[in-house]
Amino acid sequence: MSGFVFSEKPIQIAEGDGPYVYDDSGTEYLDMGASYACVPLGHDHDAVKSAVQDQLSKLTYVQASYPVEVRTALYETLADTAPDPIGKVWLCNSGTEANEAALKFARSATGRSKLVATMQGFHGRTMGSLATTWKSKYKKPYEPLIGDVEFVPYDDSEAMAEAVDEETAGVIIEPVQGEGGINPASAEFLQHTREVTEQAGAALIFDEVQTGMGRTGSLWAAAESGVSPDMITAAKGLGNGLPVGATLCRDWIAENYGSHASTFSGGPVISAAANATVETIVEEEIPSHAADVGEYLRGQLRDALGDDVREVRGEGLMIGVEVGRGANRVLKELAMTHQVLALPAGRTVVRLLPPLTIGEQEADQVVEAMEAVIT
Ligand SMILES: *Cc1c(COP(=O)(O)O)cnc(C)c1O
Repeated sequence: MSGFVFSEKPIQIAEGDGPYVYDDSGTEYLDMGASYACVPLGHDHDAVKSAVQDQLSKLTYVQASYPVEVRTALYETLADTAPDPIGKVWLCNSGTEANEAALKFARSATGRSKLVATMQGFHGRTMGSLATTWKSKYKKPYEPLIGDVEFVPYDDSEAMAEAVDEETAGVIIEPVQGEGGINPASAEFLQHTREVTEQAGAALIFDEVQTGMGRTGSLWAAAESGVSPDMITAAKGLGNGLPVGATLCRDWIAENYGSHASTFSGGPVISAAANATVETIVEEEIPSHAADVGEYLRGQLRDALGDDVREVRGEGLMIGVEVGRGANRVLKELAMTHQVLALPAGRTVVRLLPPLTIGEQEADQVVEAMEAVIT
């Protein structure tokens, strides 16, 4: 018996603690990828763990049509933190499902079918989200997908204005592209996209599956850009490692959502994890900490790597280092020689998405390792 989708790495991870994970022989690794941004508070976080344990001892699951205190609390927590006037919450189990719901809601609320997405964008791997994802390698074997998707160059306001019209149901964008190489959009592009979607009566969806939960230096990247979209989707960091996704909506979307559902929507255990995660991030002002450490880390990386890399870019603790050669070789050496785990974003970008709780000490550790590998 064996799995077949993932090619497994030669490190058997057995335990985690804060920004570190340990293999089965006790070797310590600094987890600068946070396993795809999924543990913003670090591994094995006490508040999340005890919230989950408490909930497990009371009730593991009940169908979503019965109100449960912990899920109601999560609805409120998320509605409170979302930029106004977003106040309605749909819960699911992953990023692609959160986007799938957003695309369906955009179609049902507008009665239109056309969708607009961006080149290099990534929105997930179920048929709908996949159709709005750029890379043809991910799509080709499964075509035909849902159709009626137009792609525009990222950060190109003119192209966006041309693509959005009275037939557009929705526009889906990442405020900072993750998979596509850590590409931050300008605030002007996001604001302009807001204007043209509003004029056309189309729904604006911010895919914050990767940028959300404080990653870019504020709880939602939307708030930072001064744009209030019609929907925000979240997942990766939301349950600090437990599988939960959310589609946050304005009223006009929620009132015309059509007929969507999911059996496990907002299960009590997962809701407890998400509540503890969001509350800790807000109470401990993690986003502004991420902004500060991120700025320090980018500065140190630029100083240490200089002309040996093409660019160090990003926002908060969502950082891309364009190494200008095979990123996978750099990543392998970082892991095997320096015990630093990071991620690729395309072929030439080393992507850092550490727990948002890291300090300058961990930042220095990764800078030293990257300097040794790259310069
Ligand atoms: C990872 C990701 C997704 C897909 O999330 P899954 O939980 O893997 O389905 C969607 N959008 C963005 C921006 C992502 O980074």
